[in-house]
Amino acid sequence: MGLKTKEEYIESLRQMKPTAYMFGEKITSVVDNPRLRAGIEATAATYELAEMDEYRDLMVTHSPLINEAVNRFTLPPGSIEDLVARVKINRTLGNWVGTCHQRCTGLDCLSALSIVTYDMDQKHGTHYFERFKEFLKHVQKNDLTCNAGVTDVKGDRSLGPHEQADKDMYLHVVERRDDGIVVRGAKAHQTGSLSSHEIIVLPTRAMRKGDEDYAVAFAIPNDTPGLIHVVGRSSLDSRELDGCDIGNIRYSKYCPTVIFDDVFVPRERIFMCGAVEFAVDMVVKFSSYHRQSHGGCKYGKIDCMTGAALTMMDYSGTGKAGHLKQKIIDMIHRAETLYGCSLAASYEGKKQPSGTYFIDTVLANASKIHEGKEMAEAIRLMVDVCGGYVADLPSDKDLDNPEVGHLIKKYLRGKEQVPVENRIKMFRLVEKMALESADTISDIHGGGSPEAHRVTILRETDLEAKKKAAKRLAGIDED
Ligand SMILES: Cc1cc2nc3c(=O)[nH]c(=O)nc-3n(C[C@H](O)[C@H](O)[C@H](O)COP(=O)(O)OP(=O)(O)OC[C@H]3O[C@@H](n4cnc5c(N)ncnc54)[C@H](O)[C@@H]3O)c2cc1C
Repeated sequence: MGLKTKEEYIESLRQMKPTAYMFGEKITSVVDNPRLRAGIEATAATYELAEMDEYRDLMVTHSPLINEAVNRFTLPPGSIEDLVARVKINRTLGNWVGTCHQRCTGLDCLSALSIVTYDMDQKHGTHYFERFKEFLKHVQKNDLTCNAGVTDVKGDRSLGPHEQADKDMYLHVVERRDDGIVVRGAKAHQTGSLSSHEIIVLPTRAMRKGDEDYAVAFAIPNDTPGLIHVVGRSSLDSRELDGCDIGNIRYSKYCPTVIFDDVFVPRERIFMCGAVEFAVDMVVKFSSYHRQSHGGCKYGKIDCMTGAALTMMDYSGTGKAGHLKQKIIDMIHRAETLYGCSLAASYEGKKQPSGTYFIDTVLANASKIHEGKEMAEAIRLMVDVCGGYVADLPSDKDLDNPEVGHLIKKYLRGKEQVPVENRIKMFRLVEKMALESADTISDIHGGGSPEAHRVTILRETDLEAKKKAAKRLAGIDED
């Protein structure tokens, strides 16, 4: 109990026995599978940094709930300072792993639940908040990682949950028992589900009358009977299995589809069941927190991308080229604008009735829209600076080949005094940061598709106040 070391975290996952498939085969040991291990190592960094003197003050804080030191990834924000720290830990980790560390989604779910369960109880006299707090104590005391089971597979997008031809297109309750519920469905793109001890399920969209069976929230261990994790392919994944041309020394991201094949959820782990009118609250709270988290880690990644581009300029002899320096400036200002937007969402946060602090929704969504566009631009700039070998660098296996290895090393050299191996390693890292589909596609779709961000901005902005300001200046008095 208490804060886990990195080793204890990995060992705790080893004790779990999830049902998981990858490339058509059942995985017997998640932590020993190189592809999954690279993702687990990225999450393990959230434990590792909490142990390091340099980062402990940032990563570890005090929980009033259990009156103990906890990892920040288990603490729903209780102050503006906590909201600001969310952004800083994500930047630090994005910088450390150069990909997605995969632990923010769980915190975003915990934070949303800590607000909405309270509000539901106030309206309906239910006891979800107390149940949730018991779960949160368990998470904090054992320093657990949670994932976000939010995105349903959704079938026909023009139809609501209960209107689908196949009723399982949105996860739903198929049986109600005295001791709990049985659920069926599938959640897509489950970032780090096998690196997580607990799977937290929330509704994926607003719901209405008729959708009662679909308005569910709960948490269950990742090896609960009936849960099946099918790991998705990512552009560079087989390199991790080969142990060759990996690019990033250790870290990666993977996103399974998680199938709930009639899974039992015990009563004490149910945090919402049937309250259709609160589904939208759950979605807006989760997705706004998560869109801000995205801003956090992605500018940490742009930091790495900028560092890679600068290093490549040193290695290739282009360090003095004025147009490349301009591109570096363009990368930095994108990262800093994103950082500023995410920080502003924290500083403008407000206390909710449950005591949790919620970020400013409009700023969080503005940050995510910015991320979706500007990450693509930052990648384009990095590739421009680094050159074409990002696309087609010979394999390390060719470098080790006695017949062609010395020739490749001769022709891949940049500046004479820079070891050619360093230039090759940096090209590989750039390739990984530009083309790792599990990470780069999430710049666009993670936390909801771009249209979802835009719709939220329109809905949450005080449009009348803007009209009023314009009318006053124009001398129009309609009141
Ligand atoms: C790498 C990655 C990691 C992710 N991690 C997680 C995670 O950890 N947990 C999680 O729960 N989710 C996760 N997601 C899921 C993410 O939130 C979804 O991808 C996103 O919400 C879009 O949903 P979709 O992929 O089903 O696309 P779709 O819903 O098919 O959307 C495709 C397009 O159609 C539009 N569209 C969809 N429905 C309608 C409609 N009714 N009317 C008009 N337009 C419509 C959308 O705006 C979009 O432009 C992740 C996604 C990615 C790519």
